[in-house]
Order: sequence, then C-alpha cells, then structure tokens
Amino acid sequence: MKFIDSHCHLAMDSFNEDRTEVIERFFNQGGIALLSVSTNIDEFYLNKELCEKYSNIYTSLGWHPHDAKGFGKREEDFLKQVAEKKLIQAIGEIGLDYYYNNSPKEEQIRAFEIQLKIAKKYNLPVIIHTRDADSDTARILKKHKGIKGVIHCFTSGEDFFNVAIKLDFFISFSGIITFPKSEDLRKLVKKVPVDRVFFETDSPYLSPHPFRGKRNEPVRVVHTIEKAAEVKGMNADTLSEIANQNFFALFGRNTF
Ligand SMILES: [Zn+2]
Repeated sequence: MKFIDSHCHLAMDSFNEDRTEVIERFFNQGGIALLSVSTNIDEFYLNKELCEKYSNIYTSLGWHPHDAKGFGKREEDFLKQVAEKKLIQAIGEIGLDYYYNNSPKEEQIRAFEIQLKIAKKYNLPVIIHTRDADSDTARILKKHKGIKGVIHCFTSGEDFFNVAIKLDFFISFSGIITFPKSEDLRKLVKKVPVDRVFFETDSPYLSPHPFRGKRNEPVRVVHTIEKAAEVKGMNADTLSEIANQNFFALFGRNTF
C-alpha cells in the first residue's frame, strides 16, 4: 500500500531521539508523503530542515487554539512572511477548542479569524482543529467562505460533518476510528465521499488500536486506512490511493 500521513507532529520532543528512524521507517514501508505540522516558530524551523532534506515532507504553521493567547503581532508577522515565501503548504492547525479552554474563547476566535484571513490572502489551505466548538467553528468557516482546507482528526457529529462537506472541506480521520467505542464516528467514515477523505496519525498522539497508549508514528496511518476500508467495504489500497490524490489536490505536488 502507498499511503500518506496528512497530519503529524515530527518536530515535537518525543521524536528527538529517533526522528530520522521514524521518517525512514515511514518512507521504506510505503509512505509517499507526510505533513508535519508546526505549532510555533521553533517547530517551524525544525520542520523546514526536514522539508529541505526530504522532498515529500510538507509542513504548515499555525497557532493552535490552546496557544491563541500567545498569538501576537510578532507571530502574525512571522506567519505572513513564511506564507509569502511559500515555506509552508498550509496554515494550521487553527480553530477552536472549548473542551480544554487553555486560551479564553474570545482570544481563540481572534487568533482563528486572523489566521483565516492570512490563508485567504496567500491562497493557502487551512488545517482546522475543532473540539466542543462546532457551532462557532461552522459559523466562522461560513463567514470566511472560499478558503479550502481539511477538518483534522475529525471527531465531531453529523451536523458539523454536513457543514464541512457543504463548505467543500476534506475530512481527516485518525486512529480514533479504530477504537472500539467509536461506533458513531465509523458511521461518518462510511458516509464520507471518497473524494473528500484524508487519513492522519496526529502522532505522537492517538496511537491506533492495537498500539493505543504508546507513542504514535506516521507509519501507523496504515491501521486507520485499513479500518476505514473495512467500514466502507473497499479495498484498502484503492482507498489509500484515492486519499493520496485528495492530499495532493489540496496541498499541491511537491514542487516546493
Ligand atoms: Zn495535531
């Protein structure tokens, strides 16, 4: 199977000991591209090095709702600069998280909207994080119509799913779909049109069954793809190939 991990965090400390091995394992076992998200300036520089070393590593930069209160003028200017220089292929992850509320709601909305405007200005897709905030996320995405993107690690309900599909967003499923309790989510896996589906690990988080609780890594995206194929009654290689084309359609071919 040829596969893509559309969302992981290779710049995080948990990969400091064996980052190269993790990447090599991914590409040696069938991985053809991955997107390593940068959630701050330091992570961006580390991911930039990876992008220079491997032509099939993509990166993004965006201030997560948890860090919205730290998104000031300096961060905004930095984001604009890297967007303008085309050093990133997407803006994200950005959005709203009312589950943890690590930043106040108003701050989250402010940072989210500024970053959406930057995405629009530089014509970059967005990677959306939303948790317990679906109605506000939907309202804001509708307000900023015309931006392309993906709902990362989809765990929302059917209402938000329908809004996202209507807004032409892609839906990215993580290892959560392999957990025994995720019956409701698997109904949406079944429902998602194949031309809208992405797969991701969100590693180092969210190891799929049977590795749950262990540090996750990009190669394990295979387990999520296999589960989705089973749910959809499709051949896993075929589904993966379609998801790969979806990824390239949103983030572009590796011409950067
Ligand atoms: Zn993430």
